[in-house]
Amino acid sequence: MTALQDTDPAVFDIVRREVERQNDGLELIASENFVSPAVLQAMGSPLTNKYAEGLPGKRYYGGCEVVDEVETLAIERAKELFDADWVNVQPHSGATANSAVYLAFMEPGDRLLGLDLAHGGHLTHGSPVNFSGKLYEPHFYGVDTEGEMAGRIDLDKVLEKAREVRPRMLSVGASAYSRDFDYATMREIADEVGAVLWVDMAHTAGLIAAELLNDPLPYAHVVTTTTHKTLRGPRGGMILVGPNGPSPTGETLRNGNPKTTGQVLDSAMFPGTIGGPLMHVIAAKAVAFGEALRPEFATYQQRTIENATAMAEAFVEKGYAVVSGGTDNHLALVDLRSKECTGKEAEAWLGEAAITVNKNMVPGDPESPFVTSGIRVGSPAMTTRGFGPDEFRRVVALTDRVIESRGADAEAVRVEVRALCDAFPLYDVDSLGAEP
Ligand code: PLP
Repeated sequence: MTALQDTDPAVFDIVRREVERQNDGLELIASENFVSPAVLQAMGSPLTNKYAEGLPGKRYYGGCEVVDEVETLAIERAKELFDADWVNVQPHSGATANSAVYLAFMEPGDRLLGLDLAHGGHLTHGSPVNFSGKLYEPHFYGVDTEGEMAGRIDLDKVLEKAREVRPRMLSVGASAYSRDFDYATMREIADEVGAVLWVDMAHTAGLIAAELLNDPLPYAHVVTTTTHKTLRGPRGGMILVGPNGPSPTGETLRNGNPKTTGQVLDSAMFPGTIGGPLMHVIAAKAVAFGEALRPEFATYQQRTIENATAMAEAFVEKGYAVVSGGTDNHLALVDLRSKECTGKEAEAWLGEAAITVNKNMVPGDPESPFVTSGIRVGSPAMTTRGFGPDEFRRVVALTDRVIESRGADAEAVRVEVRALCDAFPLYDVDSLGAEP
């Protein structure tokens, strides 16, 4: 990056300091990960210069023959990874992928039934502040707040709600839910009420690719994901259709549209939602999917779950309530009420100790979304750095020390965090200013 260092020292300095921050801190944000140098290199390539509206072989611009190859490679690798029949790798982000799904299957004013944001859902699943809640009519299911099923989705209640609402689309997927989904039953519910079943596997795509969680592809009409969370690729999105999508005649599509689901989704993506796709990011997606097809990726995902489980157990041992009592995946929701502290306070104190978490609502939370009673912690990023269960138990001990001291020990903990991080090196800061 000598060019950047020489021509724009201000931006170079920011990049260097952010790399140092990532190197020197404990990254526990469940939606983040650390990409490989190969993914970084593809993203920083001159492929960013190329306009390629359309699809491989069917572009609205000349000179696309080379980038066509990389998009085709990304599609083929994604199909192999998820056993999908059709894939579109163009969404710039998870939210962009989700917009295309709405455009493909819903008319403004149509009813959506999704997981409540306050119970772990995502903004794009019908929140009133998002386009999905403004353009469509959102209804929600949630997790139980007490009893045996506390912190879990009761599918009988989802069925009851679906019968009452009769949504055009039923969405499944979450940003803060630590249990697996029963996609087969969700499909039965969707079929009973005549809804399109859309699964947003943004958080768990890597775990699903490694076959460690239930696979939505055989049940959902359409699946969306981000590519940068457990999947460990560049920031971006993707849409997939599995073998059990709507029939080629599009029988579940509106107005007897004769196109296949893939064709409908392709046009909903472009020209429906985006202009030119980001070809440098698509190249980086191809690299990440290639990495995900290797056996080491499944081992990494296995460790991600083991580490999240170790972390959840360690929080319980330290007297914290963990929503639903534990985790099946890469994250846990820690309820801080027993420690008389809010999510906002914990996030700030932990930040002082270079432990990065995000405040998060817990089911039935009496606090506002800006304050919250919980934090969300995830294992994907630090597992990429090589942490195992012992390191994650140490992370919980350090986190607890900061919270118990109400931030007073943050500086002292920061020193220990640094030592722990130094033992598991990440990016080479010195090479940032070196000749390529
Ligand atoms: N869907 C889910 C379930 C998510 O958790 C997220 C992001 O956190 C998104 C969609 C949106 O992804 P992006 O931030 O790439 O738009």
